[in-house]
Amino acid sequence: MSTKNTVMVFIQQDDGIVADVSLELVCKAKELAGELGAKVSAILAGDKLDAEAKRVISYGVDELFLVEDKRLAHYTPVPYTKVVRDIIVAQQPQIVLYGATTTGRDLGPRIASNLKVGLTADCTDLQIGDHKIKEQLYKNILYQIRPAFGGNIIATIVSPEKLPQMATVREGVMKIVEPDASYKGKITKVDPKLEDGDFLTEIIKRVREEKRVNLKGAQIIVSGGIGVETRANFKLIEELAHVLGGEIGASRAAVDAGLVSQPHQVGQTGTTVRPRLYIACGISGSIQHRAGMAESSKIIAINSDPDAPIFQIAHYGIVGDLKEIIPQFIKAYKAKA
Ligand SMILES: Cc1cc2nc3c(=O)[nH]c(=O)nc-3n(C[C@H](O)[C@H](O)[C@H](O)COP(=O)(O)OP(=O)(O)OC[C@H]3O[C@@H](n4cnc5c(N)ncnc54)[C@H](O)[C@@H]3O)c2cc1C
Repeated sequence: MSTKNTVMVFIQQDDGIVADVSLELVCKAKELAGELGAKVSAILAGDKLDAEAKRVISYGVDELFLVEDKRLAHYTPVPYTKVVRDIIVAQQPQIVLYGATTTGRDLGPRIASNLKVGLTADCTDLQIGDHKIKEQLYKNILYQIRPAFGGNIIATIVSPEKLPQMATVREGVMKIVEPDASYKGKITKVDPKLEDGDFLTEIIKRVREEKRVNLKGAQIIVSGGIGVETRANFKLIEELAHVLGGEIGASRAAVDAGLVSQPHQVGQTGTTVRPRLYIACGISGSIQHRAGMAESSKIIAINSDPDAPIFQIAHYGIVGDLKEIIPQFIKAYKAKA
């Protein structure tokens, strides 16, 4: 496939609302395109999406391919694969990005298999660089970066020989920049070439469970690790989070021990967070935990072990027993508030 100089993003929408991860990817695509001297394009499919299309452009899309068809209102694999594949074949971008959501993880591999190109799943970083294989130098290719071998190493994966280079990217890891409503991007409407036979899957009923834990949107997170020891002690974490108006987070060890439920887990196999304040209580700071919170603006660590690795990334560290420190913290905060 000969390629145009474009970084393309598949824009996921759910019930007509664009997913945050897609906007994060547009912002990252803009950065990558800047390094490549390329344009940013995007694919948005669904029904009645004019307003959302304009919103996506304001994040820095130069050309948005809008596919509107009632039958595409909700994601189903066969028609979406056909629509997205056809646009990729026609536009020949050099990079295509998908969110590592249920939809992106279903769609990305289908497109990769159809086009016989590579796909790196669940990336946590993307960069541009050169790569040499024997005597062949590939310039300005996509470094697809993700944890590997249980998070013990960070692998950089390249797929320079066949284009487009494709990756799914974890939610919450790429920074969203402020949109610019005056950004001049073009909307190109695409007529999907779909037949009734493509709609093999029929959605009979959609059941949506409301998210009760909103770690991604929280500005303050108070997290407890296995150092909290008991469910009764975990009430201290909950109380501190409540007093500060924050959300409750946890390490995987705390989740595995049943101190708190899985949706609260922060880290490589939990949620990636970037709050203004992250308070880690009784958490050692394993690489897998740090992968999900190291980008927090301010980190406070409370740990009885002065050599705990969490102190290497904490802005403020308190060495001591969390059972004594957290009540003092709460008392001091209430006295000031
Ligand atoms: C593939 C893979 C994926 C993983 N994904 C994740 C993930 O997403 N998130 C995650 O968190 N982990 C993840 N892990 C697990 C990770 O490796 C660690 O085991 C885990 O993060 C440890 O949790 P912890 O810090 O609560 O426990 P520990 O490492 O046991 O640390 C407990 C800390 O509490 C301190 N402490 C004890 N008592 C007190 C007290 N009274 N007061 C103050 N401090 C005290 C101790 O000094 C210690 O530093 C993953 C592991 C693997 C292999």
